[in-house]
Amino acid sequence: MTQNKGKALIIGAGIAGLSSAYYLLQKGWQIEILEQNDLSNNCSYGNAGMIVPSHFTPLAAPGVVAQGIRWMFDSKSPFYVKPSLSTQLLSWGLKFLKHTNQNHVDRSASAIRDLNLESSSLYNEIAQNPEFDFELNQNGILMLYKTEKVAEEETELAHKASSLGLAVDILDKKGIQELEPNAQLDVIGGINYKCDGHMNPVKLMKQMISYLKNKGIIFHTQHKVTGYEIAGNTINAIIANGKKFSADRFVMTGGSFLPELAQKAGIKIQLMPGKGYSFMHTPENPIHRLEHAALLLEARVAVTPMNGQIRFGGTMELASHHDKINMKKVEGIVQSIPKYLPDFKVKLPKESEIWFGYRPCAPDGLPYLGQSSKLKNLIIAGGGGMMGLSLGPIFGKTVSELANDQKPTVEIKIFNPERFN
Ligand SMILES: Cc1cc2nc3c(=O)[nH]c(=O)nc-3n(C[C@H](O)[C@H](O)[C@H](O)COP(=O)(O)OP(=O)(O)OC[C@H]3O[C@@H](n4cnc5c(N)ncnc54)[C@H](O)[C@@H]3O)c2cc1C
Repeated sequence: MTQNKGKALIIGAGIAGLSSAYYLLQKGWQIEILEQNDLSNNCSYGNAGMIVPSHFTPLAAPGVVAQGIRWMFDSKSPFYVKPSLSTQLLSWGLKFLKHTNQNHVDRSASAIRDLNLESSSLYNEIAQNPEFDFELNQNGILMLYKTEKVAEEETELAHKASSLGLAVDILDKKGIQELEPNAQLDVIGGINYKCDGHMNPVKLMKQMISYLKNKGIIFHTQHKVTGYEIAGNTINAIIANGKKFSADRFVMTGGSFLPELAQKAGIKIQLMPGKGYSFMHTPENPIHRLEHAALLLEARVAVTPMNGQIRFGGTMELASHHDKINMKKVEGIVQSIPKYLPDFKVKLPKESEIWFGYRPCAPDGLPYLGQSSKLKNLIIAGGGGMMGLSLGPIFGKTVSELANDQKPTVEIKIFNPERFN
């Protein structure tokens, strides 16, 4: 029997928080989770469900600034930064610029690859548990392109991926079409990242919550953490809804709200919310279906088969949290689909059918994962950005290893959560 290790309090019921609970539970911790909303939505639900060892290049990479500036002048483009004099955005932007260099990419690539590969095999383990069935399919992701320029860039990236030991096939038009016998592809070729996969994130989240509840984990919903009771280098309690919650260990997740949570504990974490949209589509003709998840590269649109339907998602708007749906961006997604997938006649969804979420984007494109050096009983897990779902299980496993004073399975030094303090 696992020994009782003490009590752990987790802030946030996204994939980072739930995975932390899953792995802490295995080590005998008594766990409670505080969540400011109910358990029906956050960034971990409506995302594209992709598991992405292919994303070994951080968001901050050479070339993104020039491309980003070009996109700023197109209302339907996949990228937008809301012009603002907010100090949060300016400070984030300066750090982002500082990291858009090849040195940073080279330094980060193998660390990100290792996190994602380990996480992918942990998803496989979770899926073996009969209490889970979240449509996990580790059959690869297709990167589809229509232009010679992108073909050239992606081929170079695929060679780099190969040199990092990732399983990749570079395919011409015929080769990529053979992988999708039930849907016409209007592309000049593509890369099959066989190391990748996809799932249904809504099923994963719901099943994870049921699993944890059945194991006795307590969820305090509608409990927003607003402060901490700190003595020296130790958190004694956190404050939510005017009540104190004490524990031996505290795990701070919080997704795109992590900077506010951390600031209240005197820790500076830099993140910008990267807003994105998704919607579900039921193909008119059921003969037309996709076997793989795919990225329509020039359009930056994600396409994922889910539960007999297809989820389309995309756009990255860097701005503070706001609930308004930018229909021009959704139109941009809809209009790009038939250019790659002519069989899919997708109508512009109604506002009520559109989901949005905020990717927690760090300026250097790296997650925040590790033990706080300021507060000895605090572990931070967040900043997953565009791969936060993919990284869920390795976040959770690492949190559990740190709480148990074990050496983490993967090297996490580069992800130090206090690196911008
Ligand atoms: C359109 C789109 C597509 C995406 N596709 C993919 C993909 O294919 N693959 C992938 O890996 N990633 C993808 N992502 C990114 C991924 O969804 C996120 O990185 C991930 O879900 C973040 O998980 P999280 O647990 O850190 O945060 P969240 O899921 O946002 O959870 C954080 C939770 O903390 C709670 N919280 C915050 N502050 C407080 C507080 N003060 N008190 C109590 N609770 C609090 C929030 O309410 C929230 O429930 C996508 C994102 C978008 C927008």
